[in-house]
Amino acid sequence: MKNKGQIVQIAKTRPYDPSQGRRSLVSLVVPVFNEQQSIGPFLDRIEAVFAPLAPTYSYEIIFVNDGSRDATEFAIRSRMQSDPRLGLVNLSRNFGKEAALSAGLDHIRGDACIPIDVDLQDPPELIPDMLKHWEQGALVVNAKRICRARDSWIKRTTASGFYSLFNAMADHQIPRDVGDYRLLDKQVVEVVCDMGERVRFNKALFSWVGFETAEVTFTRPERENGSSTWSYWRLWNFALDGIFSSTTAPLRVWTYAGGLLALMSFLYASAILLRTLIIGVDVPGYASTLILILLFGGLNLFAIGILGEYIGRIYSEVRERPLYVLRSVHKGWEKT
Ligand code: UDP
Ligand code: MG
Repeated sequence: MKNKGQIVQIAKTRPYDPSQGRRSLVSLVVPVFNEQQSIGPFLDRIEAVFAPLAPTYSYEIIFVNDGSRDATEFAIRSRMQSDPRLGLVNLSRNFGKEAALSAGLDHIRGDACIPIDVDLQDPPELIPDMLKHWEQGALVVNAKRICRARDSWIKRTTASGFYSLFNAMADHQIPRDVGDYRLLDKQVVEVVCDMGERVRFNKALFSWVGFETAEVTFTRPERENGSSTWSYWRLWNFALDGIFSSTTAPLRVWTYAGGLLALMSFLYASAILLRTLIIGVDVPGYASTLILILLFGGLNLFAIGILGEYIGRIYSEVRERPLYVLRSVHKGWEKT
């Protein structure tokens, strides 16, 4: 039975319990969109990282093919022939990385899960450290980027501005410079998968869950193959999704802004009335009238725009469409 948003008991499944006689299984969730050249190098690096961990850990990799139009699926399926640890979830079209990640999380079997990019910008060499923190009891281990020197000035500034704005307004803080690359205990994944929301901003969902959280740090390398599909326009919309799906402050601020402006207008109107009664009608006033009309017109439109941002997202939520549509699911481990 699905739990209704509550995990009451935390049953700790820690790595390698001899009494259970099995190694802990780590599930890597990898959304891929037109990444045919990246699959091979990615799998080789993962294999190299897990080889020394073999006595205590085994792994599976769930690729989520997010409507790729190149030979990504072919590349994955040819590796699947010889590797039963690989799984492939094909979506019916491109749903975007957030939805693809959710599709992957819905299919994991592991005791812990690590969402990771296929382009090797999330260095797999951090995984042993993450697992150490997990062994010590952390249910979430964030991978934080400490040096963004390789990002352009504009990307660094906008990213930093986003985190400040988000954390100033949101009900729950998100850690700065932590992407989707992190370790999540299966219990955390269960909670995240149970969240019904359609507008998904996984970073915020992952930290909303809470639990004991540890952190490892890294410097983000350049992409190994291919190129990023995130344009500034896409990032802007992603940031808006993040903010409007995790805040109510921009809605409520109008109560105070409106109240203050109404009070000031009342005072100003009283002053003008008094002046007219005492001095008489004063015709000039074109500039002040125009300024007030423009100011209030602009503020009204801005406030309506904010309302629109929320209403649009409420509309997506009430339609209750599924987050993604599956075309096919292939589980390498079920073939044998
Ligand atoms: N990705 C995806 N669907 C998309 C866009 C990207 O599944 O619509 C995947 C992509 O294949 C990669 C990861 O998400 O594994 C990160 O994408 P990218 O490297 O383009 O983003 P960046 O590193 O620039 O944030
Ligand atoms: Mg990338």
